[in-house]
Amino acid sequence: MSDKKRILVVEDEKTISDIVVFNLKKAGFDVLTAYDGIDGAKKAIEEKPDLVLLDVMLPGMDGWEILQKVREVSNVPIIMLTARVEEDDKVRGLELGADDYITKPFGIQELTARVRANLRRSAEYVSQTKTSVFGDLTIDLNNYSLSKNGVAVELSGKEFALVSFLAQNSGKVYSREDLMSEVWGYDGYFGDVRAVDVMIRRIREKLEDDPSEPQYIKTKRGIGYYFGV
Ligand code: CA
Repeated sequence: MSDKKRILVVEDEKTISDIVVFNLKKAGFDVLTAYDGIDGAKKAIEEKPDLVLLDVMLPGMDGWEILQKVREVSNVPIIMLTARVEEDDKVRGLELGADDYITKPFGIQELTARVRANLRRSAEYVSQTKTSVFGDLTIDLNNYSLSKNGVAVELSGKEFALVSFLAQNSGKVYSREDLMSEVWGYDGYFGDVRAVDVMIRRIREKLEDDPSEPQYIKTKRGIGYYFGV
């Protein structure tokens, strides 16, 4: 697989799109294109690009609507391409989750500089706040996924919540009641705390080389569980 970053260009004006695509490719990016709003929204979600350049005035569905749809499912950096930026538009775009603006007409150097800056920012954001590594485990809070030595481990939503909670509070021992309220969101007294034991056992079967000798989620006898790597 190529490690080139993939940029989706959603722009209905062919001449502008062609110039942007040509220059992004020259700058070393892979480029996808969409020439109308519906195709743009579809590709922004399904093709999982690393960044989206999004025109506002588009046939089919405008840039604002696409922005909203994409933000429901993805944190991909989005740079809006606008004919002119009114203050109102800026506020609206930021509220809807745009990362940046480029005003038309724009210079190609400015465009590639902004693309690079936004990609860099998003990479830092992901590595600093969203992805955590614990020994062989990588926990990614962006897409609620966990991998062990780079191989994805399938966990249910609650299993993921339990592992990531313990991992983020590594070393601290939690009672079953604590974990019950943390993961299920209610007082353990009203739930059956054995559900925690059952879930821990399931997680260990998925995670551990030897579930009877756990390396990740450990038992503190008589007290509860803790994460230790
Ligand atoms: Ca347009």
